[in-house]
Amino acid sequence: MRERAMKFGTKAIHAGVEADPATGAIMTPIYQTSTYAQTAPGVHKGYEYSRTHNPTRTALQNALAALENGKHGLCFSSGMASIDAIVKLLKPGDEVVSTNDLYGGTYRLFTKVYAEFGIVFRFVDMGDMANVSAAINDKTKLIWAETPTNPLLKIIDIAALAALAEKHKCLLGVDNTFASPFLQNPMDLGADIVMHSVTKYLGGHSDVVMGALVVKDDALHERLAFIQNSCGAIPGPQDCFLVLRGLKTLHLRMQRHSENGKVIAEWLVKHPKVDKVYWPGFPSHPNHVVAKKQMRDFGGMMSFTLKGDDMADATKFLSTTKVFTLAESLGGVESLSGHPASMTHASIPREERLKNGLADTLIRLSVGLEDAEDLIEDLEQALG
Ligand SMILES: *Cc1c(COP(=O)(O)O)cnc(C)c1O
Repeated sequence: MRERAMKFGTKAIHAGVEADPATGAIMTPIYQTSTYAQTAPGVHKGYEYSRTHNPTRTALQNALAALENGKHGLCFSSGMASIDAIVKLLKPGDEVVSTNDLYGGTYRLFTKVYAEFGIVFRFVDMGDMANVSAAINDKTKLIWAETPTNPLLKIIDIAALAALAEKHKCLLGVDNTFASPFLQNPMDLGADIVMHSVTKYLGGHSDVVMGALVVKDDALHERLAFIQNSCGAIPGPQDCFLVLRGLKTLHLRMQRHSENGKVIAEWLVKHPKVDKVYWPGFPSHPNHVVAKKQMRDFGGMMSFTLKGDDMADATKFLSTTKVFTLAESLGGVESLSGHPASMTHASIPREERLKNGLADTLIRLSVGLEDAEDLIEDLEQALG
C-alpha cells in the first residue's frame, strides 16, 4: 500500500498490517511462539527466534514507523528500555544535551545509571536555543528533547533543535509521548530518532507497558536493532496485539482528547479557586506560536495551580474527584489526575522544584474521553 500518501486515520487502521498469509485473518494473530521451524539449517521464513523477530511485533513496528513518517520501528518492553537503547549508542566521554524539564524516569536513567558509566549529561532550558548552543561541544553526540514537557507543558522548537543537531553533527532524539504521532511528527521537523512510551496514548487503554523507537536511517536502525537483540528488552506478542488494536482508534481518541482538553482548560481558567493553567492551546501560553507551528492540536494534557500555596488544598482536591482517578501515568481513555510535588517529581528537592515552577498546589490532568459535562461537574464538586 502507498502508506506515505495515506491520511493519518487510514494509516492508523491499515499501516503495517496485512491479512495473515496463513489464514487470511484480518487481525494480526498473536504469534505466541519463541521459535520457528527451519526446513534445513539456516533455511527459514525470516523468523528464527522471538527475541530477534516476532510477526506480531513486526506488524506493530511497521505501523508505528508509518505513523511517524519514519522507515523503521523498534518496540521495547517499556518506554525506559527504548531510551536505554539510545544511550547505548554512546561511549564513555560522550556528551548529551538534554531538556531540563524531563520525565523523571529519564532523568534518573541519565544521572543515576549512565553518568556512572562516564557519559556526561548537560540539562538546559530549551526554551532558548542559545542555551542549547552553549552546552554543545565536540564531544556532544546526542540532543535529547521532550515536548510538550511534563508537567508544565512547555513547548520546544523541534525544527530549531534539528538545525543545531545538523550543524554540530549529533543525533536529535525526541520523546514524543505527550503529543502522540497524531499531534506531532518530529521526524518531519528533522529529528533522527522519535521515542514513545507506548504505555500512554499509543496503547491508549492503560493495559500495556511498552516503548518504541522510530528512525529513518538504515545504519542507525541496524545498530539499534543490534542493541535490542543483544540486550533483550523486547515486548511480548500479546502486548503487541493490544497496541495494534489501540492504534486503530488513535486518531479518534486524540481528537476527543483535544476537544475535551480545550473545554476543560477554558473552564479551569475562569474558576475563582484556580490560579494558573498550563495548556499550550492558550494564545497567552509563552510557546503558543511554536505549538501552533509544530502540532496539529493541543491534546488533553494540562496542569494548574490553586490559589494560595497550601499543599493540603491540592491533596484534598485530588482525594475528592470521582471521575478523575488519582494515578500515575496518562494517555488512557479514562481521565487521570496527579500531584507532581508528591508523586512524579517528589525526588526533586522542594527548593529546586519551586525554582522550576512546580508549586505545591500544582495538579496535572490527563483528560480522557468521557463526556466533558461529567468531567466538569467532577472538577466543580472537587474544587468546592
Ligand atoms: C511514561 C513516560 C516515559 C517512560 O515510559 P514507560 O513506558 O513508563 O517506561 C518516558 N517519557 C515520558 C514523557 C513518559 O510519559
